[in-house]
Amino acid sequence: MFEIAILAAGCFWAVEYNFQSVNGVIDTEVGYTGGSTINPTYEEVCSGTTGHAEAVKVTFNPQKVSYEQLLEIFWNIHDPTTLNRQGFDYGYQYRSAIFCTTKEQYNKAVASREMLQTSGKYKRKIVTVIEMAKPFYRAEEYHQNYYKKNKKGSCMIQPTKLKLDSNSLIYRVTQLKETEPPFTGKFCNHKEKGTYHCAICGAPLFSSESKYDSKSGWPSFFEAIGEIGKRIDTSHNMVRTEIYCKKCGAHLGHLFNDGPEPTGLRYCVNSVSLDFKD
Ligand SMILES: [Zn+2]
Repeated sequence: MFEIAILAAGCFWAVEYNFQSVNGVIDTEVGYTGGSTINPTYEEVCSGTTGHAEAVKVTFNPQKVSYEQLLEIFWNIHDPTTLNRQGFDYGYQYRSAIFCTTKEQYNKAVASREMLQTSGKYKRKIVTVIEMAKPFYRAEEYHQNYYKKNKKGSCMIQPTKLKLDSNSLIYRVTQLKETEPPFTGKFCNHKEKGTYHCAICGAPLFSSESKYDSKSGWPSFFEAIGEIGKRIDTSHNMVRTEIYCKKCGAHLGHLFNDGPEPTGLRYCVNSVSLDFKD
């Protein structure tokens, strides 16, 4: 008889990847659970209004790997002391949570959390929520096996994987919203055909098809292909629209209304916020 474990520890791509190679794990699936809406979409969950968490459903053979062993992996792949946050992924949907499918699992999970807390590994309180499982909704197909399919894809669950020096330009631009000096970025005059991805999480953002020379000194696009977040930015005594990567929150640049046809938009992006794939 197989058993099911449902675990949430930040961006589900990496969580799934961490369990896929475990001996005794039969199947993994990423999805949404713990919230109040039925069949939520990724967009709805990311908006933070559904109450769902990004979670991974692990089907395992308890003869080969125990629930306790899976919990041990779970504790080791994320920081269970940061409330609603893993790395740069912020929001209730990224909470640390264990959804138990049996009463036994519940007892084991509570005991294992207590053991970890008293072990002294963390000075801060472990905030992982343990509750009985609610309906689990399978996520859109492109999220399944994301890491295996996209070798370079990465999200923020393992901050150690992404060692950003806090003095580096990429850190100052993507995390502190600074702007790289104009005409200095590697993609300013870049004309190859391909796709520009978020330099932090790898999410596809812009196609070379929509890139044009705005003479501004920063890569400019009249259209986005990925999910771009927008918010009003009133810094530097200006009212501008800031654009950021919706997947990881990385600052990208600003959006203006002086672009070419057909959109009339100019996505003005820092080169350092982008990666290029042809
Ligand atoms: Zn990103």
